[in-house]
Amino acid sequence: MRLIFLGPPGAGKGTQAKRVALKYKISQISTGDVLREAIANETKKGIEARSFMEKGQLVPDEIILGIIKDYLISQEGKNGYILDGFPRTINQAIELNHFLEELEVKLTAVINFKVENGVAIKRLGGRRGCKSCGALYHLEYLKPTKENVCNVCQGELYQRNDDTEEVIKNRLLVYERLTSPLIVFYQRLNLLKEIDGEKDIEVIFNEIIAFLEERL
Ligand code: AMP
Repeated sequence: MRLIFLGPPGAGKGTQAKRVALKYKISQISTGDVLREAIANETKKGIEARSFMEKGQLVPDEIILGIIKDYLISQEGKNGYILDGFPRTINQAIELNHFLEELEVKLTAVINFKVENGVAIKRLGGRRGCKSCGALYHLEYLKPTKENVCNVCQGELYQRNDDTEEVIKNRLLVYERLTSPLIVFYQRLNLLKEIDGEKDIEVIFNEIIAFLEERL
């Protein structure tokens, strides 16, 4: 199973990707997480990516495509994967198609999570993540049992530095301008499944599973 999770920041892609990956024993790659790790480790890629991410702009394709190519090769012969946060431009989607053709594999589906900007802004503003295991929380909708402590691994929770109001607005504009054209791109390839990302987490998860069970 090879899936893409598409949608604006705050649509719930990461939350659902973690659950779906667990259910089907497939892997998940968030290009944002890979970049944040590269920044934390002060690698060449991280140093190059930092200034773009801080402003809510897209990181140059050559960095992202390198990460994805290595990942796709590493996944050969395994159960499958979810691409969360990639592709984000038509050019990235075309390059992805080329990589997949070279590997002689096909995408199973693209799940598009739809949410209004107001909802996305509220979700991102209250979002917290675990420093150790990456589990996601929300100050209002998905509170950890103990304040600032991860339920899963007891790690410390943190707020991403691009989850501030000004940067969130820019990320949403970038999504609208550069990423949203992918909806029609994948519709034309008959791969798109639209999901109402404003519903309850459990309801959305069940809808995704029902759709995938039908497709498989
Ligand atoms: P995310 O964690 O998916 O919200 O991504 C955080 C940031 O990482 C984005 O605002 C971009 O700066 C960068 N990024 C993640 N994925 C990509 C991508 N596919 N193309 C370009 N930049 C990306």
